[in-house]
Amino acid sequence: MIDLPIVAPRKLIRELQAAIGRRWVLHAPEDLIVYEYDATIERGLPEVVVLPDSAQQVAAAVRIARRHGLPVTARGAGTGLSGGAIPCDSGVVIAVTRMNRILEVDPENRLAVVEPGVINLDISKAVASYGLYYAPDPASQKACTIGGNVAENGPHCLCYGVTTNHVLGLEVVTADGEIVWLGGKTADPPGYDLTGVMVGSEGTLGIVTKIIVRLLHRPESTITLLAIFDEVDQASEAVSAIIGQGIVPAALEMMDKATMEAVEAAVHAGYPPDAGAVLLIEVEGLEAEARQQAEAVRGVCQELGARELRIGFSPEERERLWAGRKSALGALGRLAPSYYILDGVVPRTKLPAVLRGVYEVCDRHGFRVANVFHAGDGNLHPNIMFDERVPGATERVLELGEEIMRLCVDAGGSITGEHGVGYEKRNYMSWIFSRDDLAVMASLKVAFGAGESFNPGKIFPSDADRGEGSSRMRSVVERAGPNAYV
Ligand SMILES: Cc1cc2nc3c(=O)[nH]c(=O)nc-3n(C[C@H](O)[C@H](O)[C@H](O)COP(=O)(O)OP(=O)(O)OC[C@H]3O[C@@H](n4cnc5c(N)ncnc54)[C@H](O)[C@@H]3O)c2cc1C
Repeated sequence: MIDLPIVAPRKLIRELQAAIGRRWVLHAPEDLIVYEYDATIERGLPEVVVLPDSAQQVAAAVRIARRHGLPVTARGAGTGLSGGAIPCDSGVVIAVTRMNRILEVDPENRLAVVEPGVINLDISKAVASYGLYYAPDPASQKACTIGGNVAENGPHCLCYGVTTNHVLGLEVVTADGEIVWLGGKTADPPGYDLTGVMVGSEGTLGIVTKIIVRLLHRPESTITLLAIFDEVDQASEAVSAIIGQGIVPAALEMMDKATMEAVEAAVHAGYPPDAGAVLLIEVEGLEAEARQQAEAVRGVCQELGARELRIGFSPEERERLWAGRKSALGALGRLAPSYYILDGVVPRTKLPAVLRGVYEVCDRHGFRVANVFHAGDGNLHPNIMFDERVPGATERVLELGEEIMRLCVDAGGSITGEHGVGYEKRNYMSWIFSRDDLAVMASLKVAFGAGESFNPGKIFPSDADRGEGSSRMRSVVERAGPNAYV
């Protein structure tokens, strides 16, 4: 069944057009359908999409939506992998992609003030001439927005921590349309850490309209190593062994055979066709220190059976070694028409056993899996290959995904490492949190005055009547009949 868009009331559209400009209010079905997706397999149509240019316009849109009793979902680039930007209860989508200015760079205080629609990588490009960069660098860094990063509190950044460690302050639009600042330009302000609460809240507490990010100095030397192993087990043993040596690499990534096959076809990275797994390891610091660490990493990998080691010193050599990893998720499209990416986290030492479990579960269900992940953080991303056009395939893949999430939790891990809970994982929350835990978390929404105004249907387990689709959309369709949507 195809979900039909709810026709937004004319009064709502007129009010939004007056506040934001006619051109930046989308309500035609062919425009809305573009905002039905993110990078997951979930779908949900908004009633109207607005593209504001300032915090004041965001605040106006929030107030208008509230007057009309409509929920609001913030959206960045739509690269999210937990269904977070999908308006599962329809309503108004506020896409912040036009708010993409870098407002201030302060090299002395090593910070920048940016709008939420700025692309992650553009921050590092803008401050490169000062020898600075913004550390959290997701594989999607050429596309995803800093607002989306703040909402999800990804990406894992082994040596430097996640987004919350790099955000000093936030300007936020609250549910009643007020513009407030949390945190500021100085570190550790007194009082509750409300900036920390907002980071990772997945758009459920407020809409972020400005971000003060912390910048780091580029290290004197960075060295990238690519270690090729015959077996996945050898590579995953090497992950713990490297960190066991007291080395905390800036990155420690792993790809398995299926991923290498796809990458090889896409970017010709030069991976041997019979290799079982590769590790990509980056060490940095003062030159002597980085070289010493690279030597130690080489020793560990050789000891654990690496059959080949490649080393990159110059930016060009390093970029070549990274090319395969950075293009891996896109390349997986060569293996199957659809894939379902999972995001679990386990204690590093459990990686070998959990990975074996992942292959076993996928084999048993008859689906091919490709693993590419932030191994140093114990952050797994099994990608299940399937064809969503085959009846029942999506349901089977979701069941399989649930089994893999269980493996992670049973190993002492969790249901998400960096992609957030969103819509997709909300029903797994009760595996790791009690009803009381969840009630305390939900009371934060009340404290922020957000209730169900922002991004309803996310993070918290569904109740009996919410179901899997958009309950609001369905009930309105049933009430009004299909003729209402022409
Ligand atoms: C190929 C690929 C590789 C990826 N690699 C990584 C990776 O290595 N690490 C990683 O962590 N993630 C990765 N991701 C996932 C994704 O890029 C991140 O989760 C990213 O932070 C999402 O940003 P976005 O701008 O696309 O947000 P969207 O998908 O648009 O939104 C994500 C969430 O943020 C909320 N949101 C967006 N903007 C705001 C705002 N201004 N205020 C409040 N809430 C807001 C939305 O409501 C939603 O809940 C990858 C995705 C793809 C497709």
